Amino acid sequence: MAEDERSIFTRIIAGEIPADVVFDGERVIAFRDINPQAPVHLLVVPKTEKYRNVTELAAGDPELLAEIVSVAQRLADEQTNGEYRLIFNTGASSGQTVFHVHAHLLGGGTDGALSEGTLGKL
Ligand code: AMP
Repeated sequence: MAEDERSIFTRIIAGEIPADVVFDGERVIAFRDINPQAPVHLLVVPKTEKYRNVTELAAGDPELLAEIVSVAQRLADEQTNGEYRLIFNTGASSGQTVFHVHAHLLGGGTDGALSEGTLGKL
């Protein structure tokens, strides 16, 4: 794959772009979102960029999807009260900008809880 075709997350995984990495496993990495939308906002990302979105990931490698959920819970246990919101934007009109599947892990952290009814705000 030509260098400029690789996703920004692949370049973070390769160490070419700095990121605040909070988990680095064999198949999954997690780092802080550069534009946080909640007190805790992490991106949980498979190291492969083979899957563009969660539908493709679920069909192609359900174990890897399960690992992402497991890592999300582990990080929520560390960084929030263990409760969290997990979002997979799927498609540009849902807000997806990076077509390398990733989960947004949102949590209230120590600054308070996420509010009910805040999903889907424009
Ligand atoms: P999405 O819009 O669902 O595709 O999510 C992409 C996310 O990646 C956005 O929330 C961005 O803020 C985040 N992002 C983009 N570049 C970086 C970066 N270099 N480091 C950390 N997060 C990033």
